[in-house]
Amino acid sequence: MTTTTIAEPRAWIGCLACYNSGRLVGRWYPVTDCDEVDLASVHRGSGVHWKRAGCEELWVMDTDGLPVDTEMSPHDAAAWGEVFTEAGEQWPAVAAWVRSGAYVAEGNSDLPSLSDFEDRYKGAWPSFRDYAVELAEDLCLFEGLSEDSDLVTYFDWDSWIRDLGLGYTVVDAPEYAVYVFSDN
Ligand SMILES: [Zn+2]
Repeated sequence: MTTTTIAEPRAWIGCLACYNSGRLVGRWYPVTDCDEVDLASVHRGSGVHWKRAGCEELWVMDTDGLPVDTEMSPHDAAAWGEVFTEAGEQWPAVAAWVRSGAYVAEGNSDLPSLSDFEDRYKGAWPSFRDYAVELAEDLCLFEGLSEDSDLVTYFDWDSWIRDLGLGYTVVDAPEYAVYVFSDN
């Protein structure tokens, strides 16, 4: 067993008023900290007297490690932080699921529903074929047949696996593996 460190996504939070007046004032924060970020923190070291300048609103202008590429409010970034925390070791698979587009969102947000993830995630496999063969065993596909039965010997694996695959989303995973998700 190897222990992999899962990198926490980050959000670049900047000051909108400064941005609109042509100054890029902001910095990177871990997503789980984004609800705590205030104007003072963002302007620290920038030389801008933010109270005098009338700065008000903070905005996430860039992200790193999130499966969405949109700008968002710091509060939305913090909501991703909660998903990251809750997903734990499963975060890379959750992120891949969202990236695939074939995921279930929570309410009308972009955030993934982790209970649906639990239902649909079938694990990381060397290939979809490996998953399918294991599934065939679990389903006892050949129950009651002897191993040298014609049905077993001439079973059309390629076509069975191809048909099975229509109900799944398969996404590249690290280290020459794939994540397998059922589509419903
Ligand atoms: Zn500002």
